[in-house]
Amino acid sequence: MACGGELPWRARTASCCAACWAALPAIPAAKCRFCALPWSGDDPGFICGPCLTDPLPVDWTEAWGCYQGPLERVLHAFKFNRHDFFAGPLAALVEGMLRRRGDLEFDAVVPVPMHRAKVRRRGYNQAELLARALAKRIGIRCEPRLLIKTRDLDAQSKLARSARAANVQGAFLASPRVASRRILLVDDVCTTGATIRACAGELVRAGADRVAAAVVAKTE
Ligand SMILES: [Zn+2]
Ligand SMILES: [Zn+2]
Repeated sequence: MACGGELPWRARTASCCAACWAALPAIPAAKCRFCALPWSGDDPGFICGPCLTDPLPVDWTEAWGCYQGPLERVLHAFKFNRHDFFAGPLAALVEGMLRRRGDLEFDAVVPVPMHRAKVRRRGYNQAELLARALAKRIGIRCEPRLLIKTRDLDAQSKLARSARAANVQGAFLASPRVASRRILLVDDVCTTGATIRACAGELVRAGADRVAAAVVAKTE
């Protein structure tokens, strides 16, 4: 899926050859605590400029890799081309990252929701597949119904960065059942953080005790 070469029978992960899988661009050093923007320094408490003035309403956001090269191609296939068998291997990457961080104090794993009309069109919500696989690995329940998308919006990826926050404003509704619970929000990709901001903000508004976010890849 990444290099376009013939897929070997054994040395592979799902539809990605072993060499490309090993070369997926992990974020090597520090990241912004709130939005996971990669940073070349080694200060673990790093907070990026925008987050200093207006942080995402989360305890933290973790991103495993950079949305580029083979990881971009794998995630694109996972999202658009029904390569749903990547859910397990990608969840394993996210699990390793969370265990390194050492914070698994959550009551529920909640995927960033997709509007049900869009799920019908695409057939699946890749964030939910990822969240289910991750939840199983870390022994926490996946509860997709705690957060729903109430408007069928333009895809964030088609919009200019400046239009993304307005596009997702008020688009999510959290169940009252999130009250006093600790929520791990899961998505495949984080770009401006507008989606995480809207989802986490709604979970907090509905009374969640704490919200943190984990994504596979962060765009720069
Ligand atoms: Zn390859
Ligand atoms: Zn930041």
